[in-house]
Amino acid sequence: MATLGKRISRLTPSATMNMTDMAERMRANNAEIIGLVGGEPDYDTADNVKEAGIAAIRANITRYPPTNGREDLRRALSQKLRRDNNLDYPPDQIVVSSGTKPLIHAALMALADLGDEVIVPAPHWVSYPETVRLAGLEPVFVVCPASTGFRLRAEDLAAAITPRTRAVILNSPNNPTGAVYSDEDLRALVEVLLLHPQVWILTDEIYEDICYLDKRPTSIAALDPRIAERVITINGFSKGYAMAGWRLGYAAGPKAAMNAMLTVLGHVMGPCTSISQVAGAEAVSGERSYLEANCRAYQERRDITVAAVNEMPGLSCQTPDGAFFLWGDCAGVIGRRTPGGKIIQSDQDFVAGVMEHAGVVMLAGAPFGMSPYFRMSYSIETTILRRALDRVGAFCRSLA
Ligand code: PLP
Repeated sequence: MATLGKRISRLTPSATMNMTDMAERMRANNAEIIGLVGGEPDYDTADNVKEAGIAAIRANITRYPPTNGREDLRRALSQKLRRDNNLDYPPDQIVVSSGTKPLIHAALMALADLGDEVIVPAPHWVSYPETVRLAGLEPVFVVCPASTGFRLRAEDLAAAITPRTRAVILNSPNNPTGAVYSDEDLRALVEVLLLHPQVWILTDEIYEDICYLDKRPTSIAALDPRIAERVITINGFSKGYAMAGWRLGYAAGPKAAMNAMLTVLGHVMGPCTSISQVAGAEAVSGERSYLEANCRAYQERRDITVAAVNEMPGLSCQTPDGAFFLWGDCAGVIGRRTPGGKIIQSDQDFVAGVMEHAGVVMLAGAPFGMSPYFRMSYSIETTILRRALDRVGAFCRSLA
C-alpha cells in the first residue's frame, strides 16, 4: 500500500493558517466573529507599487526572470540594504524568491546536513521548527522567558550550542512577542557566536518596518564583519509593504551560501513572479512615507491593546516594541471556569473559550513554543479592535 512519507508525520500544519481559515469559516456563518489572528497589514499595497505591477504586465514582463531575481530589483535591494541596514551586499550576493518562507527552507537545506541541530529561540514563529524538521534537521529550543523581554540571552545561547549545532535562527522584531533586540543584546550574541565558527546565523528581519523604537532595528551582520561572513539576512515584502499576496522575499549573505541556496531554489521553486519583482523594486525605491505613517497607526493600536489586556482579570502582557502582535500571559485564568462550566486547563482551552463565548479568535501560545500564553494580532481596524477587546475583557470577568 502506498503510504505517506515519514517526514510529514514529524510536521504539524501551520497553526496560524488553520486559525485564520477557521475564523474565515466562522465569519461566513456568523458576522459577529472577530479574528485577531491577522499576520499581515490590514492596509492595501501602495498605489505606486500596484501601478508598477500593472505597467509590468502591460510591458510584457511576463517571461521567466533570472532564478536569483531581476537585476533591477537586486540592485534596488542592494541600495536598500545599505540605506536602511548599513549592510554592503552587491546585487550578486542577493537572492530573490517567492516570499521569505522558501528562503528560510533553502538556507537550511543548503547550509546543514541531516541530523544537524538548529537553535530556535522560543517563543518562535510557528514555521521555524517545522521548516527545520522538513530539512531533516533537529530544532533545539532555547526558552527566552518574560524576564529577558523574550529575547535570547548570550549565556542561554552558549549553553545550547553543541558540536552538532549548525545554525541559529534570530527574528527581530519578533513574531509572536514583538521583542526587538538592542545593539547590546546582539553584541553579546556575537561574542558567543565568534567562539563557534561552524554556526550559521539566519536572521529574519521581515518586521523591520514595524518598530516603535526611536531607531530602526539593527541587522546583526552590520555589527561585525567576522560574523557577517556567516550571516544570512532574510527579509520580505509581506509586512511593512503590505504585499503578502505578491509573494516576494530576499536573502543577502556570503556568495558561496547564496549560490548554494540558489541551487536549492532553482530546482524547487524556480524564479519568483516577474511582475511582483518589478513592483518590489518600486516598493523599496519609490515613495515610502506610508511606512512611517502606518507604523504610528500600529503604535496607537498597540497602546490600546496593551492597556486593555493589562486591565483584564487573569491576563497580563509586556509592551511589544515591534510587529503587530501582543503576546499575553494567561496563567491567571488557568483553573477558572467558563460560563459553560468548562475548567480552563491550558492556553488552548483559554483561546477556545474566548472563541466560543466572546466570538474572538486568537492563537494559543503552545504552537509558538511557550505556555500559558496567547497571541493577539492588532492588525485590524481600531473600532473592531476595541469591540474585540471589550468582548475578551467581558469573558475574563465572567470566569468563576
Ligand atoms: N517570518 C516571520 C517571522 C513571519 O511572521 C512570516 C509571516 O507570517 C514570515 C516570515 C513569512 O513571510 P512571507 O510572506 O515572506 O513568506
